[in-house]
Amino acid sequence: MSPTTRRTTGASRTAGAVGTIGVPRTGAAGIRRTIGAAGAAVLGGAAVLAGAAHAVPALTSVAPLRRVLLPDLAGIGDPRHVALTFDDGPDPASTPAFLAALDTAGVRATFFLLGRMLHRAPALGRELAAAGHEIALHGWGHRCLLARGPAGTYDDLARGRDLIADVTGRPPRWWRPPYGVLTTPALTAARRLGLTPVLWTAWGRDWTARATPASVLATVRKDLVGGGTVLLHDSDCTSAPGAWRATLGALPALIDGIRDRGLAIGPLAEHGTGGVFVNSLPAGSGSRYQATPPLGGSA
Ligand SMILES: [Zn+2]
Repeated sequence: MSPTTRRTTGASRTAGAVGTIGVPRTGAAGIRRTIGAAGAAVLGGAAVLAGAAHAVPALTSVAPLRRVLLPDLAGIGDPRHVALTFDDGPDPASTPAFLAALDTAGVRATFFLLGRMLHRAPALGRELAAAGHEIALHGWGHRCLLARGPAGTYDDLARGRDLIADVTGRPPRWWRPPYGVLTTPALTAARRLGLTPVLWTAWGRDWTARATPASVLATVRKDLVGGGTVLLHDSDCTSAPGAWRATLGALPALIDGIRDRGLAIGPLAEHGTGGVFVNSLPAGSGSRYQATPPLGGSA
């Protein structure tokens, strides 16, 4: 099947309209600043709870579940483990350098791929998977989901999910929306597609032109805790040109520092966080959610 063939259909059945919410047309940097200022991506359970509730307005529609479920959404797992995740690849200009650095360090990570990037570099996606890294979905495009309707949201996720399944032979388990912004249609779509949303608890602000290895390292360390999920970027396709070099430069010291604290570091598959969030969503249209087995599963 062609990588671009959509085998998942039925977007028109997607229910759960979200209210019209204006999206600032300030581009990636502006959206990130907005979310950052709101504290959405701040670390620590309480901060994530408050921040996500502010910056993810549609998520409040599942408010009765939010308090219990947000730790999973934030990627909080085994306190002896740190999940390392990268967004926006695969990028032939930068991802191979991350592959090499992770191989040198003996670390496997979770890569949240963009469908439009994977479509251009499927061999690199296969290389990531063959190296033992976990492949997850970031979306087909990188548009904020607040600007998409239910059908467009479903199509974006389904298209990206299907391409990953075609390229790697395994459908992704995890999904992280661009900018960490969730909407009700997106949650419904994720549930129907067997995707578990996961955000992050620490990031490196590694997308800015001013980022340096030292700044990335210091920013991650500020919020780094056992059980946390670290967000970095292995591509500058939505960032300042060359910003990935700061991330790459920070990586060895970041890994060493985590290990020095007696913590293991690896992909979300080994992080001990589950799919409770998606399984507990209110019933919507479509079939009942079926969790995708973790790495090593039979499906
Ligand atoms: Zn991204």
